[in-house]
Amino acid sequence: MGEENEMVNDMNQPKCRFCDADQSFQKIKGDFVYGGREEQHFWQCEKCQMIYLNPPMTEEEEDKFYKQEFEKFMLNRAGDDKDWSGPEKHFASNQGEVARRLPQLMPFVKEGVRVLEIGCSSGFMLSALKDKGCDVCGVDPSGVFVDYVRSKDIPVYDSCNDVAKQEDPFDLIIHYYVLEHVRYPVKFLQIQMGLLKDGGIMVFEVPCASDPLVELYAIPAFDKFYWSAAHHWYFNKESLSRVLEKIGVAFDLYPQQRYDLSNHMVWMLQGKPGGAGKYSQVFGEELDNAYKEQLKRKWLCDTIIAVLKK
Ligand SMILES: [Zn+2]
Repeated sequence: MGEENEMVNDMNQPKCRFCDADQSFQKIKGDFVYGGREEQHFWQCEKCQMIYLNPPMTEEEEDKFYKQEFEKFMLNRAGDDKDWSGPEKHFASNQGEVARRLPQLMPFVKEGVRVLEIGCSSGFMLSALKDKGCDVCGVDPSGVFVDYVRSKDIPVYDSCNDVAKQEDPFDLIIHYYVLEHVRYPVKFLQIQMGLLKDGGIMVFEVPCASDPLVELYAIPAFDKFYWSAAHHWYFNKESLSRVLEKIGVAFDLYPQQRYDLSNHMVWMLQGKPGGAGKYSQVFGEELDNAYKEQLKRKWLCDTIIAVLKK
């Protein structure tokens, strides 16, 4: 299985880390890796469309990164509109995300529903779902925010293994911006499927590689920002479908656009992140929504939402 074969990859001429297609199908998609080393690039496989980091972090580097360095890495990633400087600030600065994400979850949310979030961070989603009557718990490999989450009476485990030992099956499993960080995405999803009840639902989001700032406007400054050393993969509609087909359950993928027209204009004008909302007084909500809808229609959008049914 291609996912397992990365250790034999030659960094200059990789085979696809996902489907094992040979060197002739691989081309560099992201030359500069933010937070990465000079010899690292994001490659794209013409056969399966998957975009992958090569060479990847070693498992030791990765373990250290998520236990100790991830929150700092995100804090230093200038222009991220979320505040990573502490759990309270992270929680507060993500309330807009809660409002954006909840409508997608509401069909599956009711009193007593058991919810597990993988990568729960400061717990802002779990708190919102707990407020709606759900029975929630989380998994997070980083120790930095967990005390804060536990202080709200929400159990947090180090791994899915610990969850399997101590919790009953779940009705709903969610994860946001996690799968792109995972070395073996198929195995990762299969483990979670084992934690779901029959008929249970999984909802997750990942960045969409056919982001308009890459595929439509091709902004050089964005290209130096986008391809992150913290990611193993960037998915598009086709490649994510290939991953999910291996899980063997029904799924739907939905295009989503998180960033607004102002953010895109600031990238074009100044080559910088952080422009969200800057011109919204002039553009108005109607124009911004129409812009996002059009990008979604073309799958030139920044986010993919996946919904799986066991
Ligand atoms: Zn491939």
